[in-house]
Amino acid sequence: MLQLPADEVLVAGRWRRGAGARTETVDPATGRVLTAVHAASVEDVDEAAEGAAAASADPAWRELPAHLRARLLHRIAELIEHEAEALSALQTADTGKSRTETRALVHSAAGTFRYTAAALETAEDAVTPSRGAYVTVSLHEPIGVVGAITPWNSPIASDAQKLAPALAAGNAVLLKPAEWTPLVALALGRLVTRALAEAGLPAGLLSVLPGRGSVIGDAIVRHPRVGKVTFTGGTTTGRTIAHAAAEKVMPVSLELGGKSPTVVFEDADLEQALAGVMFGIFSSSGQSCVAGSRLFVARGRYEEFVDELTARTRKLRVGPGTDPGTQVAPLVHHRHRDAVAGYVDLAREEGARVRCGGGAPEGEEYEKGAYYLPTVLDGLPNSARVCQEEIFGPVLVALPFDDEDDLVAQANDSVYGLACGLWTRDHRTAWRVARRIEAGTVWINTYKQFSIATPFGGTKDSGLGREKGREGIRAYQRQKSLYWGVGDAPLPWATATATATATATASAASIDG
Ligand code: NAP
Repeated sequence: MLQLPADEVLVAGRWRRGAGARTETVDPATGRVLTAVHAASVEDVDEAAEGAAAASADPAWRELPAHLRARLLHRIAELIEHEAEALSALQTADTGKSRTETRALVHSAAGTFRYTAAALETAEDAVTPSRGAYVTVSLHEPIGVVGAITPWNSPIASDAQKLAPALAAGNAVLLKPAEWTPLVALALGRLVTRALAEAGLPAGLLSVLPGRGSVIGDAIVRHPRVGKVTFTGGTTTGRTIAHAAAEKVMPVSLELGGKSPTVVFEDADLEQALAGVMFGIFSSSGQSCVAGSRLFVARGRYEEFVDELTARTRKLRVGPGTDPGTQVAPLVHHRHRDAVAGYVDLAREEGARVRCGGGAPEGEEYEKGAYYLPTVLDGLPNSARVCQEEIFGPVLVALPFDDEDDLVAQANDSVYGLACGLWTRDHRTAWRVARRIEAGTVWINTYKQFSIATPFGGTKDSGLGREKGREGIRAYQRQKSLYWGVGDAPLPWATATATATATATASAASIDG
């Protein structure tokens, strides 16, 4: 039995009906309205930000030793694991994703809290070399209030990727989930509220504020109490947020879109490459920032590879996320499905060959859902819009390449730089090309594998900053340097009897210190 969260939002630790508009959330597999949530209002954001500022300054939190903050994160992980099946079912209903995927996302969220707890307990600050008269200590302090804005494509995992390090760093968080998929963030909010209450910590450390991005997201970004925004979503939105942050001279982390190339070299293991390319684009129904949406195949193997890929793609099972046999689940929303279909229509107008897919599946069982067939296109140059713009659906565009230089030029001819996949048996080819590709992540003979210990982020229009890894917590802290005077003598410049020699010494010290 699916447990739906109550129609309440979390404002500075208090659950209540949001003062914003009532928004229905829809199961994309059936088109059925799941429930309705009253969004937060701008006034709710203001109250949440004030509550967060007070909670982050509360000595009960601010002075809490790292190992006790780590204990809180472990407890949150435990609660997520305990509720894993319910959270997975909720996320499948809200996003349409398969249960296999939502189970993995839920366990990844728990793992993120556990890894961050371990990183926190083993983090160190530096004592820098002294110059005799002073000792310097470099500290990392919390920013205070962090705004975390997340998209609809992997809700609980992206929420955890921001919430865990921001709390570990000693902040309070205002979390804004996407308007289409608010349910799992609200459910996560219940678990965090419970863990905070058990530990006797300020409830205002977390607010969960669903609502329209241009209203609630914008109010969070511009709020004077918010000292940092961490954002995952589209590049256009990221740019808007970066502009607003520049006005406040506020740090931002931006995890943005992609149009990632996946490359099959002449010598690739074709079985592995076929499986990897298909997983890279069609898992999550292509709704993944790192989807390998541009396929480059060495010209000598192009027809053979694309023919086989097309044949296998036709056999993929499209169905609801609740069916264990489903390989391609519905898209998140009917409006998004229509946008994906619009891109394929555009490709047809531009002269593409539709090798397979290219429309919604037929049959009564698909009529009401936001389904789209996995699609392979080719016959277009890399400059075509479907090769340059992020479609965020199960649509792959295939292109041939002649040699390494041609491949690198085409692969890098994109505003994006998020990820890349290389399929080759030659480790020297992999090394050379991986170094020349403009991307934050390059997978070699594998694709779309993630380790919480490995930093992740984009270059070019794909983003700014890195998440995950041991340094992930640092993104939510400010560095402060302390100079600790340990000399017996007064500073030379201030003494009335200072000589020219002493003055020279003082200037040198202030330059090289
Ligand atoms: P989006 O439209 O940019 O929305 C992302 C979040 O930002 C949502 O919560 C949205 O609210 C909010 N938002 C919208 N306008 C805003 C504004 N003016 N100020 C503040 N917040 C605002 O992206 P999406 O369509 O949900 O997600 C898909 C995109 O995310 C793709 O481009 C994908 O590549 C990217 N993504 C990147 C990564 C990565 O790690 N690099 C990971 C996952 C996804 P609403 O709910 O009202 O729209």
